[in-house]
Amino acid sequence: MHNLEYRQSKDPMLHQRMQEIEDFTLRKVKQMNTSQGKIVGNVIQIPVVVHVIYSNSQENISEAQIQSQIAVLNEDFRRTNADQTDKWSQAADSEIEFYLAEVDAEGNTTNGITRKASTTTEWGTTDAMKLASQGGVNPWNTEEYLNIWVCNIGGGILGYAQFPGGSAATDGVVISPQYFGSSDKGSNFYLMAPFDKGRTTTHEVGHFLNLRHIWGDGGCGIDDAVADTPISDGANYGCAAESSSCGSEDMVQNYMDYSDDSCMNLYTLGQKSRMRAVLAEGGFRRSLALSDKKRGGGACSAAVPNGLNTSSISSSRVVITWDSVAAATYDVRYREIGTSSWNSTAVSATSITLTELSENTQYEVQVRSKCTSEISAYSASVNFRTSETILSYCTSKGNSVTDEYIQTVQLGGINNQSGSGNGYTDHTDIFTNLAKGDTNTITITPFWTGNVYNEGYGVFIDYNQDGDFEDSGEIVFTKSPSQITPVIGSFTIPDSAKEGPTRMRVILSYEETPEACGTYEYGETEDYTVIIGAVASDIEAPTSPADLTANNITETTIDLSWTAASDNVGVIGYDILQGTILIGSVSDTSINITGLVANTEYDFTVFAKDAAGNVSNPETITITTKDIILEYCDSQGNDSSYEWIDFVSFGGMTNSSGNNAGYADFTDKVANVTRGSTAQLIISAGFRSSSYVEFWSVWIDFNKDGIFQILKNLQVVPPQVPLI
Ligand SMILES: [Zn+2]
Repeated sequence: MHNLEYRQSKDPMLHQRMQEIEDFTLRKVKQMNTSQGKIVGNVIQIPVVVHVIYSNSQENISEAQIQSQIAVLNEDFRRTNADQTDKWSQAADSEIEFYLAEVDAEGNTTNGITRKASTTTEWGTTDAMKLASQGGVNPWNTEEYLNIWVCNIGGGILGYAQFPGGSAATDGVVISPQYFGSSDKGSNFYLMAPFDKGRTTTHEVGHFLNLRHIWGDGGCGIDDAVADTPISDGANYGCAAESSSCGSEDMVQNYMDYSDDSCMNLYTLGQKSRMRAVLAEGGFRRSLALSDKKRGGGACSAAVPNGLNTSSISSSRVVITWDSVAAATYDVRYREIGTSSWNSTAVSATSITLTELSENTQYEVQVRSKCTSEISAYSASVNFRTSETILSYCTSKGNSVTDEYIQTVQLGGINNQSGSGNGYTDHTDIFTNLAKGDTNTITITPFWTGNVYNEGYGVFIDYNQDGDFEDSGEIVFTKSPSQITPVIGSFTIPDSAKEGPTRMRVILSYEETPEACGTYEYGETEDYTVIIGAVASDIEAPTSPADLTANNITETTIDLSWTAASDNVGVIGYDILQGTILIGSVSDTSINITGLVANTEYDFTVFAKDAAGNVSNPETITITTKDIILEYCDSQGNDSSYEWIDFVSFGGMTNSSGNNAGYADFTDKVANVTRGSTAQLIISAGFRSSSYVEFWSVWIDFNKDGIFQILKNLQVVPPQVPLI
């Protein structure tokens, strides 16, 4: 605020202009609260020009470092920053984005960066860097560009900003180079911890868009004119988590406090309204919201976006990012795996935070791009699982990664090559599945920047998911200091481990065997997620049940048996199919099948199955049920020496039977006749010498019950000899 007082002293009218802006802001915020639809939903994109003024090569920061700062601004103002948390529910996506200008004030193509060498080593806060007449660089039209000067301010000042209402000639933001950009987004940047994550610029652009410090630059009686930031009596430094003043917890995570970069992670809904008011219709910075400094003519061609990625997965939210498709907007859709309906959201940026997810749940997400008249197909799904609960683990960090750090960690599906990460890196969005009882191999590859040193190693898994690594068996691997590379350890997941996503910590520490908690001199800590499951994923099918045999075949039942199948994990049973219908499942190696029809052919198939649902090749047998055997009453002529049935013809069957001593069983002879039709029966008698008068009867057991009750529907011609 010192800078503001200085400005007001130099410009007596400034105070009045700022009061007018304040009155407008109050009206606008009130109006926006009743009609949010007016500008909410439209992402405002502000063109930025960065003027680098340097007195040495370090201060002449790289384009990559500048881009890392633009990326941080976009993440922080869109609330896609990886370090966001659920602590403050009023945290907001401000829907304001920034991009390096692609067109300069004259309409020429630009990368949005100017550079100027200077002999000035400290610029102070009197705006000399903004004036060519004083050795600085004049701003590009401040109505159309957010001007950011990157030069060494000196005096321990990280940056300063001009509030809305100030002189156009000096409008913009100034940041010292060692605080401009983020060490999380590249290497070899000129940055100084603990202000090396780009939050100085987020803070100063907040001022530029009319935000006050969160404590209102006064005691408990002074507010920052934002309703949803707690009243506070002063700045917080470092990371004074849970500190409170004026009867409430201070929001030390707010970008408008003085906390270290790694401690800050939010703007609130109220701050969003203030910033958007100054950009809204009638607002002092409205022209910036309307300014378009992107190269025109880029044709929109809807293509499936690449690089779909998830990060910052918590129990309820995830950050989704993807590569941009020129001039396109996007639809993102996601659903719980195993469900059928998608949740869809339209976005113009290349990232979105999905919120209100269920904990410990697996989701899939897809993205497609859209142009005015074209829509691409959706990308392939990327899957992620929300964490079960938010546990707070002890700090573990190497103070220096100058000489050595963890380069690669490999375990199951984890194969992560990473940089030094400032001594601690949270890789808990990287996970692998591990099964209880399984023995796993972890491979840790160290990296030495120069000399090779002795390194000790520790791997810790919070098996009972209680937020520490102190329980028995949670130190899963240690190795005393050596120069071995890579280091390979093995450990077995205990049966007592809790199932689900579980924290794993990997530590490399110079000249000591590390412990799970605390800071240490040289080396690095990396945290990962292992998802512990009941059994290993089994994809191997059992062998076929062999020697399938049918026993005790009757007219309607049959016993099937087979020899047991085998499996890498275990056969849990057998499925038996009759034709293609599943008729039973058994755990032993036989089944009694009933309800069959006599004299009928059946195919039976038996499969072996395991707990994972793998099914063996089939074993099939074809059997025919027994025919029904009926007992008929006796019928016998006592003497057939004088006459006998000599010939029978019926239904295509003929039988010259001759004398058969009073009874003959010719049931192997088959006549074929049709229901409802008349068939001719020819029977003739044989005589030894002279012929006699013979009487005939013919029975058919039409209902196949073994009884010839009556002369069933059979018309018999009166006896003649021979009967034709
Ligand atoms: Zn400030």
